[in-house]
Amino acid sequence: MSEKSAVIIGAGITGLTAAYYLRKAGWTITILERDSQAGGSIRTFRENGFIFESGPNTGVVSQPEVVELFERLPEPFRFEPANEEAKRRLIWKKCRWHALPGGLKDGVSTPLFQWKDKFRILLEPFRKKGTDPNETLDKLVRRRLGDSFLDYAVDPFILGIYAGDPSRLVTRYAMPKLYRLEQEYGSFIKGSIKKAKEPRTEEQKKVTKQLFSIEGGLENLTNALVREIGEDSFVFNCEKLSVYPKDGLFSISYVQDGISHELREDVVITTTGAHEVPSILPFLNSEEKATISDLLYARVVQVAVGFKNWRGIPLRAFGGLVPSKENRKILGVLFPSAFLNNRAPEGGAILSVFLGGVRNPGIVDLDDATIKDMVMEELRCMMLICNQEPDLIKVFRHTHAIPQYGVSTGKRLDTIARIESQFPGLIIGGNLRDGIGMADRIKQGTQIAKQLIEKSELQLAGRITGAPV
Ligand SMILES: Cc1cc2nc3c(=O)[nH]c(=O)nc-3n(C[C@H](O)[C@H](O)[C@H](O)COP(=O)(O)OP(=O)(O)OC[C@H]3O[C@@H](n4cnc5c(N)ncnc54)[C@H](O)[C@@H]3O)c2cc1C
Repeated sequence: MSEKSAVIIGAGITGLTAAYYLRKAGWTITILERDSQAGGSIRTFRENGFIFESGPNTGVVSQPEVVELFERLPEPFRFEPANEEAKRRLIWKKCRWHALPGGLKDGVSTPLFQWKDKFRILLEPFRKKGTDPNETLDKLVRRRLGDSFLDYAVDPFILGIYAGDPSRLVTRYAMPKLYRLEQEYGSFIKGSIKKAKEPRTEEQKKVTKQLFSIEGGLENLTNALVREIGEDSFVFNCEKLSVYPKDGLFSISYVQDGISHELREDVVITTTGAHEVPSILPFLNSEEKATISDLLYARVVQVAVGFKNWRGIPLRAFGGLVPSKENRKILGVLFPSAFLNNRAPEGGAILSVFLGGVRNPGIVDLDDATIKDMVMEELRCMMLICNQEPDLIKVFRHTHAIPQYGVSTGKRLDTIARIESQFPGLIIGGNLRDGIGMADRIKQGTQIAKQLIEKSELQLAGRITGAPV
């Protein structure tokens, strides 16, 4: 075993990012993956002239680590920014789409919000700040902005990001930036104005908030990482994977093609969902296992629907979201061919339709034909496609799509921190902490790798100079 080596469990974007930086620093890495390929939730399909995703469609440049990683990856990897159409978001209300207001003038005239809430927002800077650190997002928004902002802005926004329910998400964990705006500046409006005026560091300037994909589809990001890490670092189709502490190291066992294998390593990084942790770390006590794995994941169905000749409403937007109050069968629909290149044949369109989520988890269990009928019925009404039949329709199910950071989050984070300090060298990463989007995952993978590299360099320096570290 080399001094600088690690086992990473899971070849999604978190594990791949950590592996990439460790490899570049000369570490020997073994990535154990249950699936037959890398990428995790990120997967692109190319069929019949359409390019479509089964998981995420776009990311946001919301962390400097995204820019840093993208600048390093060599061609043929190419970042693809979404075009201007992506700035327009639609919200469904009373049988039609309305543009989400982008400024004061539109904000006053929009029918999405009630007049009393439009006036009420003028008093937002003067409202007292909340005192409950575990306040859920619905309560915070009702208190500061009013019911119609919750129903027609925040609820659909949360459906779009979390496929979740604002009454089950704790703001401090699920929307930490929003929480800090209130806590640090006393108001969203005051905080946003003050923050916009604050000088930005070079790091902060990299955070453009730009929406991105990768040329040819998001899978070209994970493919680029696999090439850079080296295919020989991967072990695919790993079953029955488990890790035990043994003689100051970790013993990692798994089965591949019916044959049992065992590795011995002093650094193990898990990057799977919370529900996988009890079986991967069976030595944890039952309370620790329960605390980690009781994290709720939204169950989501994504349906890619392609038309070679689009005849519905003009697709000049990122997509449309459907507030829970409107009681429709879909959560929302994205228009990737409107804001990304070459996603559909000329004159055609590809749509990504989302169903299920925390409020309607049973949809994942329906058969494909029922889901397709449901989607087409909604598209006929909401996108005005009349009797036009799609040239492509594919159903993708995600039983553990998006973690919902609710009231149990604090206890979970404390438990993970305690386990990591009890078993040095074990790192429990992945989307059970630190954010749900691709940018958060890239940030976490980068930080895990950089901390390990720094620690090993300090240990080496200590050994050479004899100084304590
Ligand atoms: C439908 C959907 C839409 C999304 N939309 C967006 C979006 O628009 N924008 C955005 O930024 N993010 C979006 N996300 C979230 C984003 O995709 C994830 O944050 C990110 O891909 C998660 O990466 P990860 O590496 O942490 O986990 P994963 O991608 O889940 O990777 C974990 C890996 O671990 C492997 N694994 C699990 N258990 C084991 C085991 N026991 N042994 C070995 N291997 C195991 C899995 O096979 C998987 O490959 C979306 C997610 C979904 C599901």
